[in-house]
Amino acid sequence: MTDDRDDAQDHVERWRGLSGIPVEAPFLHAYRSAGAARELGYPLTSGVFLDDTLLQYFTHGRLEAPGRSTPWPVGVPRHSNLGENLARALAGAEAAPDAPGDFEAALQTPELRARAGAGVGAPITWRGAPTQLFQRQVVRLMPVSPGTRRPVRGNLGELYVGLTVDERARGEGEPSPIDRPVVAAPEPVVAPVLTYHHTRGADAFRDHLTALLNEGLEPVSFDQLIAGIEGWATLPPRAFALTFDDGWLGQYHDALPVLLELRVPATFFVLPGFDRHGQGHMTIDQMREVRAAGMTVGSHTLNHARLPSLIRQNLGAAQAEVVLSRADLERDVDGVDYFAYPNGLYDDDVIQLVRDSGYRAAVTTVSGMVHSLDRRFELRRVAANAWGSLAATRRAIRQAAANDGVESPI
Ligand SMILES: [Zn+2]
Repeated sequence: MTDDRDDAQDHVERWRGLSGIPVEAPFLHAYRSAGAARELGYPLTSGVFLDDTLLQYFTHGRLEAPGRSTPWPVGVPRHSNLGENLARALAGAEAAPDAPGDFEAALQTPELRARAGAGVGAPITWRGAPTQLFQRQVVRLMPVSPGTRRPVRGNLGELYVGLTVDERARGEGEPSPIDRPVVAAPEPVVAPVLTYHHTRGADAFRDHLTALLNEGLEPVSFDQLIAGIEGWATLPPRAFALTFDDGWLGQYHDALPVLLELRVPATFFVLPGFDRHGQGHMTIDQMREVRAAGMTVGSHTLNHARLPSLIRQNLGAAQAEVVLSRADLERDVDGVDYFAYPNGLYDDDVIQLVRDSGYRAAVTTVSGMVHSLDRRFELRRVAANAWGSLAATRRAIRQAAANDGVESPI
């Protein structure tokens, strides 16, 4: 593969607009490493949630960001073995008389062979064509002239999306959406979003997080939380989300291993390039590792900017903080949909700038836990102190619930 880092930003812009349907942020780099349009084709659907897993269908397959209910690493994008689902959906299809070797001819190179994965079942006759399914590929024998057929590969995602609802339910083991439900005015969701800054070693953080899980709180990814607010995903009754501000190294050394151990998704609002000051912030390589481990990475500007004053003194500088931090992260780390206002400072002009810059939601430091679609750029959070006891965190959660006039989940 050629090194195309220099024009990566061009790729990002193109990929997000292909076919009019954007590639979902968590798949931006996975799409690229799976061969982008050349191998996966174009987005056929927007992202949809199946339970706690985010899925997106492309012409030639499906990418997924697995949730905790799956056996896969949480949040780490994977190219689904959709051929296995298609085989289940089509169980009972008539066997084809052709030999497996007739299909293998379409996978001539080791690269094509590896991308396709193992063959799934024996050849079947489907939609009038002899068909062999592979884990991530489909090959059909198509007529090219009277009496002559040629093995043609491709369109696994398109074929799967074209199944009936019942067939897809059989393939997935449960009813599975390909379209987002249309919800004009979604109900507000109640979910504490905890904010951490410094961490106090892995053991203390493990105790802290374990105590919260033992209280019955259900961790959800930020993508699921926002999809819930937007009305196209459901959240468990006692959902909560974890966020880490400022990109401190301790979060990388102490919190990340514990999050992986306990399979808890979290979002890191980071400052790309800020490590140059030598004050103990993550490097861009470490941010990339955090994302590769399945966590969400969001922007917290380049310089921890105080945006309401900056936007009045120097609009260009304020725009750079918001726009370039996202561009840097999208080039080097992964897609970025979320923003955290430094020092919790924002006003209407700042909200407009963040919204216009392509973000989908933003978090504040205001204490609360009720989130509605019209306030998704002013999401409230709950300050969590890694030094504090469970009792202190419970008090903070109860205070946030009281501020918003709802019952506390713990
Ligand atoms: Zn901060």
